[in-house]
Amino acid sequence: CGIIGVAIDVNNNCSEFKAAEIITKGLKSLEYRGYDSVGIALIDKNTRKIIVKKGKGKLDDVSKEYSFLLTPGCIGIGHTRWATHGAPTNINAHPHTDCKGDIALVHNGIIKNFLSLKKMLLNSGHTFKSDTDTEVVAHLIEELASTSSNFYEGFKKSISMLEGSFALAVVTTYEPEKIFFAKKESPLIIGLSKSSNFLASDIPAMLEYTNEFVPLNDGDIGWLSPREVFIENLKAGIVEIRKRKILVDWKP
Ligand code: GLU
Repeated sequence: CGIIGVAIDVNNNCSEFKAAEIITKGLKSLEYRGYDSVGIALIDKNTRKIIVKKGKGKLDDVSKEYSFLLTPGCIGIGHTRWATHGAPTNINAHPHTDCKGDIALVHNGIIKNFLSLKKMLLNSGHTFKSDTDTEVVAHLIEELASTSSNFYEGFKKSISMLEGSFALAVVTTYEPEKIFFAKKESPLIIGLSKSSNFLASDIPAMLEYTNEFVPLNDGDIGWLSPREVFIENLKAGIVEIRKRKILVDWKP
């Protein structure tokens, strides 16, 4: 299982399908981690809507069937799933979305308290499409972002309610220039470059584009845009960016 995300500056080297290419290549390099389903979500830079493509099966097949490489956008996320809650099916594949389709999210790990959160969200009128623990997080963010001063505050409140393990990456039409992320007990690494930033479960997925990385710690939460990265720790406060150069001959 694995996660990849990229935010490319619209005015700098972002051809129509560049993000889709980076994400699909990234997923290929994460294949060694094992998976049963794959999917991507990109923010269409013209309509500013989220496009989700996903399915059960191998990357080469699913990406061909849904034309991953012809998905327009400069900001997006991708996922390979190793099912823990909910069978490997097209619907259970990530990314998962909220009710309105304004939030798309990928997750590695297990949300231990998803049943109690799901109950609460069902009571407030949310409807669910999948059997996964992950989908609950998309709805929780939808719920809390709508009552917070901004999306990030709602995201932060949602993350503080989760029990279990997670590497999470989120795109949203509310802030279409950013990828929001959080990490606890599942790997997630930020990759920094001049006019684009990345995140991934593992370094090889980003090595073609950068050799500057920020490995996240448990409790880290934040967002990245093409030219900025913000990281804070839920316990420790704002974290100074921990840049680390990794040599290009690095191998998994
Ligand atoms: N628990 C989630 C699911 O079953 C994520 C699994 C993963 O790490 O890929 O969908």
